[in-house]
Amino acid sequence: MDSSNLLLPFTFDNQVAHGAIVQIQLGVSDFLAHRPYSADLSRLLGEAIAAMPLMATHLSFEGRINLQFQADPGQQDGMKLLVAQIDHHLNVRAMAKAPAELSGSFTHLLSGGLLALTLEPSNEAVPSSQAVVAVRGASLAEALEGYFEQSEQLPTLIRLAVRGEHLAAFMLQRLPLQSARGGLADWEHLHTLAATLQHDELLDTEPYTVLHRLFHQEEIRTFEPRTIQVACRCSRASISLMLLSLGREEVDGILDEQQRVSVTCEFCGREHVFTRHEAHELFRAAEIAEPQGDSRH
Ligand SMILES: [Zn+2]
Repeated sequence: MDSSNLLLPFTFDNQVAHGAIVQIQLGVSDFLAHRPYSADLSRLLGEAIAAMPLMATHLSFEGRINLQFQADPGQQDGMKLLVAQIDHHLNVRAMAKAPAELSGSFTHLLSGGLLALTLEPSNEAVPSSQAVVAVRGASLAEALEGYFEQSEQLPTLIRLAVRGEHLAAFMLQRLPLQSARGGLADWEHLHTLAATLQHDELLDTEPYTVLHRLFHQEEIRTFEPRTIQVACRCSRASISLMLLSLGREEVDGILDEQQRVSVTCEFCGREHVFTRHEAHELFRAAEIAEPQGDSRH
């Protein structure tokens, strides 16, 4: 498997905690290149991208997890929104709505705001669920720790590290102790060990080695590593479907005005352009696939 972007979940035999390590080395700068993010915003989005596989690790769930930071609406000309999403295949994407080149610390950008985590099951019969908490802490990692503490009463240690387009994340999370073989002292011991982990070490060390260094005296068990993809869901195919649903008349109207059809993805900022010829080919192909007068009408 491609080991550049991977999620390595782990757990302990005494059942007091579980966790995961994320390393991402591919796709981040390609993904962020289409919007004019400042260095600070790119770093924050990198942290959000690295955090999402942690959120998905121990969830037996098919669908999408949506993490949204809403900035304090009182902040004029500031950050509006930061959104990160992951699906159960570990496809991750993230975006910020903010004035171009806005910069500043996490506290400057998002303190006073809200953090909402929404689970959107693929099965539409299953309702989505959402928890909203106030943003606490001086970093995205601390805000997520606060989320687990407030919303799920699960003490959690999270580290998020970014160096250029190299991202890494670590989580250690306590489990409900009623059914565990260990107790609070075991959790505190694991937490003390994990808290020694430095950002550079997390970025520069292979995940199994990180776990070995931290927990070599513990009964730790790793699960099969999984591959993470950093990419938007928008594609030429999805934009083609959108143009078809707009209809030929509407698209011809745009072509008459602009000589081409250009659709910019709201999420990643990528521009998808269709020439007049390409747009017409699209409708022609759709008519061949589904001729007018089809009995299904
Ligand atoms: Zn996109």
